Order: sequence, then C-alpha cells, then structure tokens
Amino acid sequence: MKRRLGVLGWPVAHSRSPAMHNAALAELGLHDWRYQRLPVPPERFEETVRALGGAGFHGANVTIPHKQAALALATHASETAREIGAANTLTFTPDSAIRAENTDAPGLLAALGCSPRGMHALVLGAGGSARAAVWALRGAGAAPVSVWNRTPARAEQLARELGAHAVERPPEAELLVNCTSVGLSAESVEPSASGHPALNQLQLTFDQVGRYPHVIDLAYRPGGTALLAAARAQGVHAVDGLDVLAAQGALSLELWTGRRAPLELMRRAAGSDGEQ
Ligand code: NDP
Repeated sequence: MKRRLGVLGWPVAHSRSPAMHNAALAELGLHDWRYQRLPVPPERFEETVRALGGAGFHGANVTIPHKQAALALATHASETAREIGAANTLTFTPDSAIRAENTDAPGLLAALGCSPRGMHALVLGAGGSARAAVWALRGAGAAPVSVWNRTPARAEQLARELGAHAVERPPEAELLVNCTSVGLSAESVEPSASGHPALNQLQLTFDQVGRYPHVIDLAYRPGGTALLAAARAQGVHAVDGLDVLAAQGALSLELWTGRRAPLELMRRAAGSDGEQ
C-alpha cells in the first residue's frame, strides 16, 4: 500500500507543496509514498483529521485556516507548537496518536539566512504564520519585535501572548516579514505613481519598502509579489515565500521519513509550473 502524505487547507488549490514533496520523494527513491492536496472546509476538519491515519496517511501539512485547530486536535504536541499556538505538521502513528509540530518557525529562520539577533523586526499580520514568525524571531534574539495588523485587536492579543509590541502603523525596522495573505492575487506586481494596491493594504509605500534592509514575504505567487518586486527593485535582501515554503517543507519531510530532504530540489520544484 502507498504511504500517503498531504496538505490540509481551505482553499488549497494554490499550494506548491504537492509538487515540492513528490519531487523530493522521487529523488529519495520513496516510490511507494505519495503527497496530495486535501481540500477540507473548517466544519469537516476534525472528522477528516481523525480519519486520516486509518486511511493510510502517515502525515499531513496544515495551512490556512486550520493551524490552530490542528494543534487543538493533537494527542501529542511539541513545545514549539504549543508555545506558538499553531501546528503546520501532523504525524499519524499506528497507535492512533496525532503528533503536532511547527516547522514554519525554524523554516523562516533558515530561509532568512542570517541571524536576526539584535535587529528590530516588524511582522505584518496576526494569523497563524505571524505567530510562528514572532515566536521564531524573539527566540533568535530579534529585539524589539513589532506587530502590525489590519485588525489592531488581533495584533494586540498576539503581542501580549508572545512578548512583542503592537503598533498602529508599520514603523521603520531592519527586518520586515509579511505574514498577511496580501499579495496572493494575480494582478501586476509593478508599482505605479499611486503606489501599489497590495503595498497600500499593508500601509507601505514603494520607497518605505526600500528602507528595510531585509524583507521576507511569506505570501507567494508565480512571478513573485508586489512587496518582493519593490524590495528587489531597491536592492534590499528579499526572501521569497517559496524559499520559506521549501525550508519548512524539508523539515516536515525529514520528520516523516527520517531521511535528509533534498532542499534545493524542493525549492526548484516549488517554483516550477510543472507537476501539481
Ligand atoms: P491567516 O488567515 O491566519 O492570517 C491572515 C492575515 O492576513 C491576518 O493577519 C489578516 O488580517 C491579514 N489580511 C488578510 N487580508 C488582508 C488585507 N486585505 N489587508 C490587510 N491584511 C489582510 O493566514 P496565515 O497566517 O496562515 O497565512 C498568511 C499568509 O502567509 C498566506 O498568504 C499564506 O499562504 C502564507 N504562508 C506562507 C508560508 C510559506 O511557507 N511561504 C507558510 C505559512 C503561511 P485580519 O486579522 O485583519 O483579518
């Protein structure tokens, strides 16, 4: 029987995880493993997750909007997942246990490629990925860590729980991490004289983006996002969400298979338009 893996989300059609993981499984010679999309609405999440182990699934990644629900369902959760309050990786064991981990946090730091110690970091957003980013950056020594969100009350709650500072407008900082879903739409990424709708939604101008020495955009789309384009055009260190996707995915794959994941190949597969 095939060993099954998948990504639970709603929506999940845009996910590059199947292409990335199936390329890695083939490279590792794990031909009886297969990774698939699992589109599951919130009202079906619990029953679906409880049935996956019995249906031959060894593990699953979890994306929007299920990361907090995934943690709540787990029978065993890592300290990292518990402290963040969200899980992106589930493992189903033969004794019906559901183990929860969060690889978003270490994946973000790996993709950044330098230590954020001592940097003022600004996180945009207050959802599941923002929680992982704030936790990771604080743990790696970034200080202070500011959080801006469209709905300020959510930023305040996140900041209170994870030891950051909620801000009313995005301040200048050394590291900017976009953890909102702004930027996913397929519009042009080129800014105009009036700015760009995606940057406007983040309360940023093109020029302001150029003042952050490091910019990470977790949102990803073919051809890159407007934020990434603005950062690259101004020569700052810009990290594509696909780099973060590959880094967190590699860590999940290593947990499930016990094998070293082919990170470069996973990054290439995530960015290619071939197999879904
Ligand atoms: P959530 O649904 O938990 O959070 C979404 C966030 O986006 C909220 O803070 C929300 O603000 C904000 N937001 C949504 N629409 C707008 C808007 N029009 N203007 C301003 N803010 C907006 O999602 P996640 O945290 O799980 O994921 C966020 C993004 O990060 C997604 O694009 C996801 O695909 C990406 N991601 C990428 C990863 C990677 O590996 N590259 C890993 C994890 C996530 P509000 O509270 O006001 O609603």
